[in-house]
Amino acid sequence: MAIADSRQGSEWKDLDGRHYLHPFTDHKSLAKTGSRIVTRADGVYIFDADGNKILDGMSGLWCVNAGYGRDELVDAAANQMRELPYYNSFFQCAHPPSIELSRMLQEITQPQFNRVFYTGSGSESIDTMIRMVRHYWELKGEPQRKTLIARKNAYHGSTIGGASLGGMKPMHSQGGPMVPRIEHIDQPYWFGSDRSLSPDEFGLQAAQLLRQKIEALGPDQVAAFVGEPIQGAGGVIIPPDSYWPEIQKICDEYGILLVTDEVICGFGRLGQWFGADYFDVKPDLMTFAKGVTSGYLPLGGVMVGDRVADALIDKGGEFYHGYTYSGHPAACAVAIENIRILQRENLVERVRDDIGPYLAERWRTLAEHPIVGETRMVGLMGALELVADKSSLARFDEKIGAGTLCRDFLVNNGLVMRAVGDTIVVAPPLTLSHEEADELIGKAWKCLDLTQKAIAA
Ligand SMILES: *Cc1c(COP(=O)(O)O)cnc(C)c1O
Repeated sequence: MAIADSRQGSEWKDLDGRHYLHPFTDHKSLAKTGSRIVTRADGVYIFDADGNKILDGMSGLWCVNAGYGRDELVDAAANQMRELPYYNSFFQCAHPPSIELSRMLQEITQPQFNRVFYTGSGSESIDTMIRMVRHYWELKGEPQRKTLIARKNAYHGSTIGGASLGGMKPMHSQGGPMVPRIEHIDQPYWFGSDRSLSPDEFGLQAAQLLRQKIEALGPDQVAAFVGEPIQGAGGVIIPPDSYWPEIQKICDEYGILLVTDEVICGFGRLGQWFGADYFDVKPDLMTFAKGVTSGYLPLGGVMVGDRVADALIDKGGEFYHGYTYSGHPAACAVAIENIRILQRENLVERVRDDIGPYLAERWRTLAEHPIVGETRMVGLMGALELVADKSSLARFDEKIGAGTLCRDFLVNNGLVMRAVGDTIVVAPPLTLSHEEADELIGKAWKCLDLTQKAIAA
């Protein structure tokens, strides 16, 4: 019997409230509402214990790229677990799934990437990357290069390393002190600026903040710049086209490492295999997780470019770092099959040429709604900005909580999207059909209406 069928819906809520401390949750307020108990999922839909069918416009947490209900992924895990459920890659050991996946990752990434270091999650990938970047400079005889530069409002996970590198103020306010020698510059958020510059001028100016920060810190102190190609959890911040080429130029000029955090953008989200491909930059390291297994099992890793890998290998000596579950065989088996699905069903190309442009065109129609100030989308990753005044683009009073209000209308009307302040974000599975895209847009419009009415009342 499935675990979900072993108790009544109300029993789950009761037990949940008593024993389960949820991540990123205000438990006092959760106690009032109780959790939505999600029991099963299929395709792009999730089903809850109260009998609701909900279109998952967030792919879980930006990860179920291949959609739910994939027997191929289930079989890949089960077969591998029967054969070899666990073994480690410490002490001169390896196993076929981790080796095969490494080969496949080399194949789908840019030519400088020939090696991969495995972790169990995005946060662990970030921690690995921070230690590897600093160790790289130690090996190069410049141990003073310790500082990593990231962006405000960036999300790089929730371990002490991830929270420190991320630029989320509320996270920095708890459990500190954060990891030293991490600096943050402003994000390339044109809509959030005073919009006096054109987007391209603004993008160049935002990139120049990196140069200014490097100069202020001392160029010989800086180890790397790290950024999500498109900031996800921060509100789907799509940088102007001028931004990333300028960032690349500055990193090259100062010789610092360029790292893209591909945890969301990787594995087809933007209609290319990785965000770096979409923006045509050449990172030295790429962190990944989420979509690599479509979330069916936890897995993450760091793609290590030749520049760093050569230093690690040629200089000899051990890199004292790794996890019990680095390259977990069942997770790697799922990742292998997941990449095969993306390839077999041409899902990356489909995002670029078919469902991406289709949803983007429909998504743009939401900009006509009276409380929408801007819509934006790349691939299957988009956002819309709620505004109180369409001509001045003035925001709603924060006390109204327009974003939260809209999000609650959405889920109660059968669509999951997330609110980041008054920015509504969307990232559906790459398998979304045209009909499902129409359903998503229809529900979004209806809930914008409901939000507008509720605020006016
Ligand atoms: C989700 C996320 C992470 C953290 O991944 P976890 O698997 O939750 O640890 C890191 N970086 C980005 C860009 C993310 O979206």
